Amino acid sequence: MAFESLNRDNIIDFLGDIFDRRGGESYMGEDVSMSEHMLQSAALAEKADAPESLVAASLLHDIGHYTSEFPEESLEMGRDNYHETAGSAVLEAFFPTSVTEPIELHVAAKRYLCAVNQDYFDRLSPASVNSLNVQGGPMDETEVAAFREHEFYRDALRLRVWDDEGKVAGVETRTFDDYRPLLRRMLKP
Ligand code: FE
Repeated sequence: MAFESLNRDNIIDFLGDIFDRRGGESYMGEDVSMSEHMLQSAALAEKADAPESLVAASLLHDIGHYTSEFPEESLEMGRDNYHETAGSAVLEAFFPTSVTEPIELHVAAKRYLCAVNQDYFDRLSPASVNSLNVQGGPMDETEVAAFREHEFYRDALRLRVWDDEGKVAGVETRTFDDYRPLLRRMLKP
């Protein structure tokens, strides 16, 4: 399958298929599966009355762990990248930056929050502290200032908090299919 064969008519089916087939896998050392985690993140965004772009971003924020599911050309875009960059790279052909930028920044957002908010740092799960160290630790002042230059950095910070909270075993959520209409509304023309 070539990347060109993905289009605005089939991208949502394609993403739903990844949720179905791969989403049951465990979420890196946490108590929930990958799809439960992304669905919980989306549910928290809705509960907070977030705009649809940010609900979509929350739902898809870890799709970059599955870039191997995407056609080969999209792997070129995502290869050697971290999951946040890979995810936004494969989605940006179909969704606006209001969706892809919070996804791209959601790991940096953790490094940002750890730099500016001690309470946030103290509440991280053990697995999340581990990955923080791999990701470069808390931001320094220059990085904090640069982060605030991004158009959707505030959305990225909100997504980050739902990402951290969306890891509770046994929570009932809606399904991927329930979000299809919202995702369709978010597609680029
Ligand atoms: Fe996540």
